Amino acid sequence: MASTHPEASRRTFLTSSFAAVGATAVACRRAAPPEEKPAKAPLALEDFRPISMLKVPETRIEKAKFPVIDVHTHVYMYPSLPGKDVGAVAAVIPPEQVDQIVKLMDELNIKLMINSTGGYGERLKQTIEGLVQRHPGRFLTMTEPAWERITEPGYDKWQAEEIARAKEMGAVGIKVLKILGLYLRERLTEGPLIKVDDPRFDPMWEAAGKLGLPVAIHTSDPDAFFTPVDNRNERWEELGNHPDWSFYGKDYPTKPELLAARNRVIARHPKTIFIGYHVANHPEDLAEVSSWLDQYPNLYVDIGARLGELGRQPYTARKFFLKYQDRILFGTDATPNADAYPQQDLKPEMFRIYFRFLETMDEYFDYSPAPTPPQGRWRIYGIGLPDEVLKKVYHNNAARLFGLKPI
Ligand SMILES: [Zn+2]
Repeated sequence: MASTHPEASRRTFLTSSFAAVGATAVACRRAAPPEEKPAKAPLALEDFRPISMLKVPETRIEKAKFPVIDVHTHVYMYPSLPGKDVGAVAAVIPPEQVDQIVKLMDELNIKLMINSTGGYGERLKQTIEGLVQRHPGRFLTMTEPAWERITEPGYDKWQAEEIARAKEMGAVGIKVLKILGLYLRERLTEGPLIKVDDPRFDPMWEAAGKLGLPVAIHTSDPDAFFTPVDNRNERWEELGNHPDWSFYGKDYPTKPELLAARNRVIARHPKTIFIGYHVANHPEDLAEVSSWLDQYPNLYVDIGARLGELGRQPYTARKFFLKYQDRILFGTDATPNADAYPQQDLKPEMFRIYFRFLETMDEYFDYSPAPTPPQGRWRIYGIGLPDEVLKKVYHNNAARLFGLKPI
């Protein structure tokens, strides 16, 4: 077989010719047949750690240029559905760790963190005592719907009243995890999935508007989590590490179906403010997010855990930030002890990458403090926002939504 291959024939010919005339060692090496010394050694993708040879400016931003309100954190997080710990780490951290986080905030110029996953009822009380009251002015918390009560009669009315009670306790918003749309079923963990625009939640959305509680909503997930997990999937490694993050197949709705249902909710409740977490969950298509922002004046977005998307389209992202500078909020999805998700692990270097992305025009840097980019093998570019825009994104847009003083 080998002799029929033109390359193999040529090599055989060269080997014999050089041998005949006593060729140099170099010539002999070049002539070695492929089966003896393969041209390419196999390399596992996980072992591929290329070092960039670019010599480009690296700007180290120790602390944010203006005081920051991080609207998307999970300093406290509770399991939200029986048997389903949705989110990075479900835990209430000890008080000493809370104190350490405040030190880190001072170091980074983070004035305030809004804890999204504050629970409801007793858990909300625990969150308020453990965070909000322990360090006044440094933490606020949102409440969460009581998903596990949806099977009870009168849930819709009860839930609307419950968020009013949560506001009285001190909650400043409502967080809706991707549980709604992807996990919550008619019999909680069994039966058909409950749709994002299910009318049972209408009284809650409406009450949120009346009470002035913004709704931070996470619907669906990255596009690649809804496509086959094969060699064409740009987040193949991440899905390999977290197979349960794939929502491709089974009885899951498609991503466009999920987002359309969410958008119907936003349209149906124009007096309620919605914060579409993760760039309204479609940073892969900023033109589409722009069309939503144009269509729904009550929609805002945060940028939590999506630098990998924004920073690899820096021209488009910069235009997006400039055009929607009054609608974009700083958020990171920061979660303590989230070592397995370095892009949201609550550590100084994670925040500093956000500052670098927003404040500098640095090129080709990691979007996450990790040896291998955790959300896909690419790097990002800074968008160097002007000071007036930075102030809005870092602080003033959130201050307006949550009734705080601007800077
Ligand atoms: Zn989050």
